[in-house]
Amino acid sequence: MQECLNVRDLLDKTLRFDYGFDGSREFFEECIARLEFITSELNAASETDLNAVETNGGHLNELAGLICRIERSSLGEYSWPFVEELKKIAVATCTEATLHGDKPPKVYVLADGGLDRYAIYSEKKKPSGSKRLILTIVFPKSLKHFVLFHSILGHELGHAIWHRSKHQQYIKSRVIAVLADPAGIFASPQATARHLYSQSAPQEAKDFLSRVGFGEAELFSNVQWTAWLEEILCDLIGLVTFGPSFVAALCELLYGLTPSGVTFGRSHPLTSWRVNLILKGATLLGYDAVPESSHPLHNDLQAFWSYARGFQKSGTWFDVFSESQIGSVLAAIQELLGRLPPASYGAPTFDALYELLAQLKKQIPPVGFKINERGESVCNSVDFRHITFAGWIASKCNPTAEVPFSLINKLCEHAIMQQRAIDTMLRAA
Ligand SMILES: [Zn+2]
Repeated sequence: MQECLNVRDLLDKTLRFDYGFDGSREFFEECIARLEFITSELNAASETDLNAVETNGGHLNELAGLICRIERSSLGEYSWPFVEELKKIAVATCTEATLHGDKPPKVYVLADGGLDRYAIYSEKKKPSGSKRLILTIVFPKSLKHFVLFHSILGHELGHAIWHRSKHQQYIKSRVIAVLADPAGIFASPQATARHLYSQSAPQEAKDFLSRVGFGEAELFSNVQWTAWLEEILCDLIGLVTFGPSFVAALCELLYGLTPSGVTFGRSHPLTSWRVNLILKGATLLGYDAVPESSHPLHNDLQAFWSYARGFQKSGTWFDVFSESQIGSVLAAIQELLGRLPPASYGAPTFDALYELLAQLKKQIPPVGFKINERGESVCNSVDFRHITFAGWIASKCNPTAEVPFSLINKLCEHAIMQQRAIDTMLRAA
């Protein structure tokens, strides 16, 4: 009980004051509600009910950690224009029905070290006294202004969506069951292990497997098969949410972290399997369509997709899902997210994409603003995912190769911010 008082004291000294981010009073109230619930549970539990004491002690530790993380979050450390757009998707997909009506999640942001730090903590378990979900979005501090990489958060959003009970049944039956098709490589842990250790594996994979220290039969007592499936699900959600910029961010970041593409972790499957899947998915969704050769976008868009396909490994060992499995799960995810706008990515027209790219080539933030032939200004709405897509194209097409990648990122970050102002004006008109 002393620790309950300590946590209350911590709350009073930190979150009670406005830390300059949106809704800090709401965070304070949510934390108070949780603390009061935990305290009353502990008061009600008899001293011999060790289970209740342990559960609520765990909740109390979590709460103390949460308060400290919220306190550490601050506006200056991340790309806020991007986060504001991301929040709209998070609210659309993670709002929960409660006794007090629909409650959108509270979102706050943390900066942390390391390329592998992108994450959204989405509270798999929270005390039942809590009134709303709190989402923590984590960015690597070193990539603060690299908005093109931030599209990887579509994957993290996937975890948050998967952990919401309202989506779980649908995802289990329409996505997980299809990925785990009895005839496929993910039919069971044994089937996946058999494929991983099969003769068709490339030599560098065989070398890695001989180094890991366990054989085919022990594989999934050492790594978590269901976590692998969850990672794959989240990649697919990222693809449907962020479109081509997710493809580029995934390829760059995953191969940046595991260049061979054949290593894996306890909860993360092989980079090469994941990237091959997403590239195939992008094709099935028609994301890699290119206009006819007379269109001014043709060459640059072609260059972008051949860059992306450069990450694709050839050989059946790398393709762990069939085309019909991928097509079916993507259709299911599109159906789910299509009901939750603006969660699902919609492709821009080639003309609109070209206009954004042309601005970037002139080192102007790519937004929905231009001066027409009569000298009048014309504004239109632009999805922030089209801005990041144009940014990725600009970073891969030859004439702007001399524009540093960091500058393209800054131009896109500014564009997302300016577009907010344009959209506000359009709504008022
Ligand atoms: Zn993940």
